[in-house]
Amino acid sequence: MREADYRAGLANAYSQGDEPRLVRVISGGHDEVWAVGNSMFIIPAVPADAPPLLEYAIRLRREATLTGKCSECSATVGLGAFGQLVELPINEARVPHRRNCPASDENLKRQLSAHRSRSSQRTVMEAFEAASANTRSKIFESPSNKIQVTNPKFERWAKDLLDAKLSSDRCEHLASGPAQTWNSYVASSEWRCDQCFAYLQASIVEGGPLFDATEERTCDHCRQFADVLEPVIIRIDHFVMIGGVCANCAKKFNPVIPPKKVKKSGKNRRKRR
Ligand SMILES: [Zn+2]
Ligand SMILES: [Zn+2]
Ligand SMILES: [Zn+2]
Repeated sequence: MREADYRAGLANAYSQGDEPRLVRVISGGHDEVWAVGNSMFIIPAVPADAPPLLEYAIRLRREATLTGKCSECSATVGLGAFGQLVELPINEARVPHRRNCPASDENLKRQLSAHRSRSSQRTVMEAFEAASANTRSKIFESPSNKIQVTNPKFERWAKDLLDAKLSSDRCEHLASGPAQTWNSYVASSEWRCDQCFAYLQASIVEGGPLFDATEERTCDHCRQFADVLEPVIIRIDHFVMIGGVCANCAKKFNPVIPPKKVKKSGKNRRKRR
């Protein structure tokens, strides 16, 4: 294939407006293979515990590679080295970011290697504790109207639910880096990292419900059919399960504690004075 054909193919991939697809996770979770049309790209994965600046830099670089243009420094994609991988001709798509762009090679490599050396000094236990704390604060901050299970009576039920789901499939990010938030729907049989779960939720918004009509209207707690289900979120350490429960179960999960009765002592106090 000639260079002109590559350029045409690449331009085509961008201009068709095809949604980029995550194909798979490689190099032990460090990189991701993405496809746009017939073109494939290898991009660094966002480490689960990446600090905000590093996460921004990687997302910026991914967006620039997948759209052909960097929104920060306006660099556009060009072709780099050509090569041959077994039978497959490959060429490098390069975005020449400016040196001061967060997505530039210099900046990203420096931040990534600093992050990896910090991460490698943590014990497995510390990594899971950090993932758990991080998951807790994400749930706490999320501005959703989801019910949280606060009634200790239901802890057993939630733990059994988790036990039953632990052998479920997981996305490749979780398989290669388990110390991060695990997300799943109660009725589904797959765990996803934050990124993959966000894609799933976006695809539900676009393509409609994930489950069949019966499951969509079945309470995840009492398994009774209900016209309206209230969303419920269950977090155990770094595991988050999202489900729907009937109004009855919702009430039991999160009982409204009646306000304490305050003794009307004003009168007496006045008398004693
Ligand atoms: Zn840039
Ligand atoms: Zn994932
Ligand atoms: Zn119910």
